[in-house]
Amino acid sequence: MRFAEHWSFATVMATRDLAPTIREIVLKPDAPVGTWPPGSHINIAVLVDGRPQRRSYSLVPSMVEGTLRIAVRLADDSRGGSRAMWALQAGQRLEITNPTSLFEIDWSRNTYCLIAGGIGVTPMLGIAAALARKGLDPIVHYAVKSRADAALHEELADLLGDRLLLHAADVGKRLDLDATFRALPADAIAVVCGPLRMLDAARQAWRDAGRRPTDLCFETFGSSGRLPTSDFRVRIASTGNEIMVPRDRSMLDALNAAGYEVISDCQRGECGVCAVDVTTVEGEIDHRDVFFSAHEKQTSAKMCACVSRARGTVTVDTLYRPDQLPGAAA
Ligand SMILES: Cc1cc2nc3c(=O)[nH]c(=O)nc-3n(C[C@H](O)[C@H](O)[C@H](O)COP(=O)(O)OP(=O)(O)OC[C@H]3O[C@@H](n4cnc5c(N)ncnc54)[C@H](O)[C@@H]3O)c2cc1C
Repeated sequence: MRFAEHWSFATVMATRDLAPTIREIVLKPDAPVGTWPPGSHINIAVLVDGRPQRRSYSLVPSMVEGTLRIAVRLADDSRGGSRAMWALQAGQRLEITNPTSLFEIDWSRNTYCLIAGGIGVTPMLGIAAALARKGLDPIVHYAVKSRADAALHEELADLLGDRLLLHAADVGKRLDLDATFRALPADAIAVVCGPLRMLDAARQAWRDAGRRPTDLCFETFGSSGRLPTSDFRVRIASTGNEIMVPRDRSMLDALNAAGYEVISDCQRGECGVCAVDVTTVEGEIDHRDVFFSAHEKQTSAKMCACVSRARGTVTVDTLYRPDQLPGAAA
């Protein structure tokens, strides 16, 4: 675990829909949580299929003192965490962690370009407000599939005026990352939060614009991939044992449940700690991490077990060498 986490109870104060698939939830923690860096999130304990799980939600600045505001997108093709969040009613109790931030933003620059894709807008409101308070004029590009999906648009517009640029695909407005990054002054920082495809495109455009990789900050929310989420098989190279990874579990969970002790840290496809060596692929790997480069993903010599998936069968070497391999006697 990367952060010292402190779990405590909170009560759901109110819920309201901000867009057809985005629901605002206001929480009142039992104990005051103090201040937190802009862009922070909390973890929330949820029951998914009766199993305790955790999901993370970015904090949106709250109008009511002593409360925490989040906005949750109802995810289709999902294990059910967001559905559990959508089922919450005012008065319900739940367990949350103290706020913490994964963004590593250098706050000393003069120019900030914030880019939000879909629900990736949630951390941006707090970050934009913090920059505005410092007297800086951040530009926010907000890309959505349709104008109706643009939750928090009015609040951002009130804060930023014409420095908020909405790119709604249904009215033919698409964000041009190459042009956006090339137009930035040399000391600019870009902060990106959005789906994996957007992050990959942003990283490529940032590189192509000849900018320092460390000046691009990003956070990943989810692990959606190119292929639909489905069952696949993992074969252990040293034994030939095969493990089924069901669609509602990660490869990391399936390997650990089978006794292969794959170590992990972030479990969001960012740190690479859970990467396993891939020896053969019968089918196709769907890399859902932001750890490996496009070239590494193409060669598929490794995959992040926490988020990446496959179609077919993948043979891996987990580097786990116990005296008695699990299932070897079976
Ligand atoms: C720091 C942080 C901040 C976040 N902030 C927000 C926020 O403000 N608002 C918000 O709505 N969400 C936020 N999220 C995402 C949120 O934590 C949940 O992931 C989201 O609600 C979906 O949960 P789920 O259980 O419904 O979907 P999941 O089952 O987690 O599915 C999410 C995606 O993962 C894929 N997937 C499904 N099953 C698997 C599997 N077995 N293995 C791998 N991938 C799979 C699916 O294709 C789907 O697209 C944040 C995440 C992080 C890490």
